[in-house]
Amino acid sequence: MNGDGTVFARGLRKSFGDRVVLDSIDLDVVCGQIVCVIGPSGSGKSTLLRCINGLEEVDRGVLRVNGEDLGFRETATSYRARKRKEVAAQRSRIGMVFQSFNLFPNMTARQNVMSGPVLVKGKPKAEAARRADALLASVGLEGHGGHYPWQLSGGQQQRVAIARSLAMDPNVMLFDEPTSALDPERVGEVLAVMKDLAERGMTMLIATHEMGFAKEVADTVMFMDGGLVVEQGAPKDVLCNPKERRTQKFLESVL
Ligand code: ADP
Ligand code: MG
Repeated sequence: MNGDGTVFARGLRKSFGDRVVLDSIDLDVVCGQIVCVIGPSGSGKSTLLRCINGLEEVDRGVLRVNGEDLGFRETATSYRARKRKEVAAQRSRIGMVFQSFNLFPNMTARQNVMSGPVLVKGKPKAEAARRADALLASVGLEGHGGHYPWQLSGGQQQRVAIARSLAMDPNVMLFDEPTSALDPERVGEVLAVMKDLAERGMTMLIATHEMGFAKEVADTVMFMDGGLVVEQGAPKDVLCNPKERRTQKFLESVL
């Protein structure tokens, strides 16, 4: 199946208990497309990314990532039986970068980046280490392979986290507010790495509050509020000329 680098969703719903936090979500991301997801805190951005990454199970709807079904299945038992194996394989092709970096603190940058290929894919250590160094160089961290997370700045740690995701050769990269925990002077270096990835054709979904970045890099901006997609379209439309009152109010509040 030639579905690499795509995300397709129809009518996705996700609830926690009786609280619906995502409802009627439709999404079409084609290969190489950059989608920025914006919206107030609690609007469902993280939950959407977590569903797409198979970290959360949806209640209802169709969800296909890289052309493979990750969505709701009729029979809960067969779903669970097949789920673990399938989802593990699918998830290795979906990279995710979190606000809080989530590096292994007791491992060097190089060990962090090679951990997936060695432990999950069984790659030889020497080969994985060479690849890790090349990936670290590609995010501007040449010569930092031997550093531990505590020896690196937040921006450097986040770039290690990006390199670690890329080491699994994902077709889709998800970013959940990747610069929100950084000092302002460190935001630019992480956005530059993401922009470089976008230019190299990576499919990316990015929850962000960086409106300037969204305007410059996104093909599509999606505004969420209360678990719904309120408005989506080209950045110049959604960010500069929003149709919906809720989008207008949100943009006024962040600018
Ligand atoms: P955002 O990322 O846009 O801030 P989230 O996806 O984190 O929004 O949260 C959407 C809603 O879902 C919030 O009301 C949040 O409290 C709720 N929520 C998120 N995760 C859980 C969970 N594991 N259990 C219960 N409620 C949750
Ligand atoms: Mg969030």
